[in-house]
This record gives sequence, C-alpha cells and structure tokens, in this order.
Amino acid sequence: MRTDSQIITDLMAAGVVETGHFVLGDGYGNPGLHASEYIHVDRLQDSLPLYSECVQRIDERLGDLGIDFILTPDDTSKATARFLARYRATRFRLPKLEYVSAESDTLRPGPARVLIHDDVLHAGRMVHELLWRIYKNRYEFVGISCLFHRNEGETMFGLPVFPAVQTVFKAVHAEQCPDCTRGLPSTRQYGLAERTLRESWVDENLLPVADTTR
Ligand SMILES: [Zn+2]
Repeated sequence: MRTDSQIITDLMAAGVVETGHFVLGDGYGNPGLHASEYIHVDRLQDSLPLYSECVQRIDERLGDLGIDFILTPDDTSKATARFLARYRATRFRLPKLEYVSAESDTLRPGPARVLIHDDVLHAGRMVHELLWRIYKNRYEFVGISCLFHRNEGETMFGLPVFPAVQTVFKAVHAEQCPDCTRGLPSTRQYGLAERTLRESWVDENLLPVADTTR
C-alpha cells in the first residue's frame, strides 16, 4: 500500500483534493465548519486508477472482516459501495456482497453484519440518523468505511472507521479557523449554501463562501 502522502500528491494533481479556505455546508444549505481542503469525489470517480486504488485501500483495511452487506446513508456513496463490494467479492468469492442505499432501497431485516459506507465522513450526522432509523432491523454494525474523513479518532459512535486515506481533512468552527483569523476570504462557492450566503452575507460586504455538505 502506498503511503498517504504519495496518494494525496496524486489526489491533488487530479484535482480531487483542492486546497484553499472553504466553508462547508451543514447539510441544510447553511454554512458550517471551515476547512483547508475541499474534496471532489466526482473527480476521483473520473480518475479510475486512483479511485480503484482508494477502494482497494478500504478493502485491505477491512481485512477479513465478515460483512453481509454494505449500507450507504444516501445514494451519493452507492457507487463506491458497489465498487467495494466487487473488490470483496473477488477475495471472498460467493455469496456476493450486496450494497444498498438506505435512501432508495428496501432494507431487508436482520440479522446481518452490516458495514456502513459514506464517501466523505464528516460529523457523521447522516450515519447517526441512519443508525437511529434502522436500529430495529437487528443488524450488527461492524464498522464505517469512507474514502476520506474529517474527524480525528479511529471510531465513530463506537464503530471502527476504515478510511481509504487516513489523513484527516480537518474541519473547524469559524472562530477556530486560522484563515478567518488572518482575514482571508473564502476560496469558492459550492453547492447548496450558495443562495443562502448570497442573500445573507453579500449585503454585509463579505465574499460568498464555499459550501458543500461534504
Ligand atoms: Zn475560515
């Protein structure tokens, strides 16, 4: 397995990891935490060898952990879950590992050993909602996998975290943000919060900021 810094160099060259001063969304279209790296998962998916390497890294970290199916909180992470399932299938043969999205698929009842996958693991809000929503299904949750994560710590909600890239792309509150302290404007606008920000912040003569739910 290549080192994190080797793979991050490639991720930056491919535009997957962009550096700057970003304001991440809170998932509801409002500005949330600040970060020095923005992650473009779509660009990773366009760069197949790199994407494949990342998925393989998750697979290797999972080792021989027994998993009945992979569950994603929403549809956006489903492509990676499918890819991961294919990797596991080549190593463990049948029965083929399933992958489902809690958003669009019918969840089968347990008992089952379930891995949750979220492409970019942030505060874990979606994962927490998912755990809460399906706790009655008698699943045994074996861990959380992700391509990238923004949290320090090897566990989340008591579950082990298996990231493709172990480096934490940390996000902090505005008052702890070194770029804000230095008065640097945010780098770029992204996604949902853009409209909210334009309405509420531009009037105050602040540059619109970047947003992502990621
Ligand atoms: Zn900031």
